[in-house]
Formats: sequence, C-alpha cells, structure tokens
Amino acid sequence: MRKTSPQTGRVGKVVRTCIGCRERVEASTLVRLVAVWESTTLVVTPDLGRSLPGRGAHLHPTERCLELATRRKAWGRAFRTSGPFDLTTMYDLAAPNGSPTGDPRPESEHPLMENR
Ligand SMILES: [Zn+2]
Repeated sequence: MRKTSPQTGRVGKVVRTCIGCRERVEASTLVRLVAVWESTTLVVTPDLGRSLPGRGAHLHPTERCLELATRRKAWGRAFRTSGPFDLTTMYDLAAPNGSPTGDPRPESEHPLMENR
C-alpha cells in the first residue's frame, strides 16, 4: 500500500543553515541576506521580500547569530568575497527594540515557589 500526499510534501519546508550558529532550521525562521556593493563596501542587506538578486546567505535576525557570523568570518565565505562588509543594517535589524518576531511576554508572572 502506498500513500501519496499531494499537497503536504516537502515543498514549502525549505531547510537552511544559519551562518551564525550553524543550526539547520526552516528557512522561514531565518532572514535571507544579500551583499550589495556601495562604493567600496559590501552592505549586508536583509532581503525581507526575498526578491533581491545575487548570492544569498541565511541568518537568525538576532544579535547573537550576528556576532557569531562575524567572529567566524562567515560573511566572506557566504558571499564568496573578502569584503569589507558593512553590517550597520544588520545591527539595526537585530536590535532588541526593533525585533520583528519578538513574542510579547505577560507582565505579571506567578511566583512558582509558594511554600506554606
Ligand atoms: Zn542562528
């Protein structure tokens, strides 16, 4: 017996590696990045609409993965060029107060240690 799933195949669940933490996760949780030449620097630009041409890299939009990618010199490897890279736009994206996917936490938390 063979079961075929017409619509719920593997299409739509693309797995990509974050160039920061090297975790393999669903592409939709990562931000696609492209490097755009601006005079003498390569500006790493988040491709939020996934429409920019060129070689892309994928990264979690977090400061942690940004730091990891920088420390690993992952940018040069991801874009196949030695830079210099301008990461200003990336740091804007990863800024804690500008997080697009931050889940709101309830302000009141119940203390779990209530011994009597
Ligand atoms: Zn990551």
